[in-house]
Amino acid sequence: MRFLRNLVQRFTQIFQRTEVDEELLDELEETLILADVGMAMTEKLMSEIRNGVKRGELKTAEDVKAKLRELITDVLGDNTSLRFSETPPTVWLFVGVNGTGKTTTIAKFAHWLQRQGKKPLLVAGDTFRAAAIDQLKVWGDRLKVPVIAHQMGADPAAVAFDGIQAAKARGYDVVLIDTAGRMHTKKNLLEEMRKIYRVATKALEREPDEVLLVLDGTTGQNAIAQAEGFMAAVPVSGIIVTKLDGTAKGGAVLAIKERLGIPIKAVGVGESVEDLELFDPDEFAKALLGENLQ
Ligand code: GDP
Repeated sequence: MRFLRNLVQRFTQIFQRTEVDEELLDELEETLILADVGMAMTEKLMSEIRNGVKRGELKTAEDVKAKLRELITDVLGDNTSLRFSETPPTVWLFVGVNGTGKTTTIAKFAHWLQRQGKKPLLVAGDTFRAAAIDQLKVWGDRLKVPVIAHQMGADPAAVAFDGIQAAKARGYDVVLIDTAGRMHTKKNLLEEMRKIYRVATKALEREPDEVLLVLDGTTGQNAIAQAEGFMAAVPVSGIIVTKLDGTAKGGAVLAIKERLGIPIKAVGVGESVEDLELFDPDEFAKALLGENLQ
């Protein structure tokens, strides 16, 4: 597994023991908190575990681990795949705060789609920063995927409109739209998101197939506050949690799912285009608890 390495080590150490005693339960609780699962969720998980121990159902560390895996999988919910439209182009709108990994995630998806024989098209909807437009163009060149872009300062909704029209005219399968994520003009930002969504719906003559919110897994609980802002503006249909390599806070994924109730559709596990994994709750639970180490 390419992610959650630091965490996995702690869980592995805990479950190497055989006896279930107070010390093991305390360590487990501490590890969940350090993993940024959040206090409320940690308490919920621990109370189920402690009850199981009291009732004599969980006798060994292995039993506790199996129960925890079951509980985590339950919290994460069903496996939810990404939505494609029967009438192309499929349109996925990416939203999220700057620096969370939005542009990189778009590149990863473009690469993933290409490998499935699909033709993606990128749309530079973050017209606020020249660097954002350039960054998307660099990915486009590298992946040989066309990028629809306007000048810096242009209306992002107009770029989205052009992108969708271009995909229709030229037969592209999936339109991946980047958007701005600056924080200091939050109200305008959310207005802008609404407008992009509205205009994209008009160009498409139906709603976009996915609104994917990109959250940085290393920011833990802060990611939740960010998410609530975006959810107030657009109908977020899925969440991508990035930077789960290198972080000891992968537990935030649980808190995010529990608090927001929106399916997590993929996770980012590195900086290269290969480093995207479609989200599978059971696989995630296993990885978290160190069950599928090669
Ligand atoms: P944006 O501002 O939201 O578009 O963010 P970028 O795509 O520019 O990413 C910001 C930084 O995070 C860049 O240095 C990326 O290489 C890095 N990054 C993005 N996703 C991941 C990931 O899954 N893991 C790691 N380690 N870094 C990532």
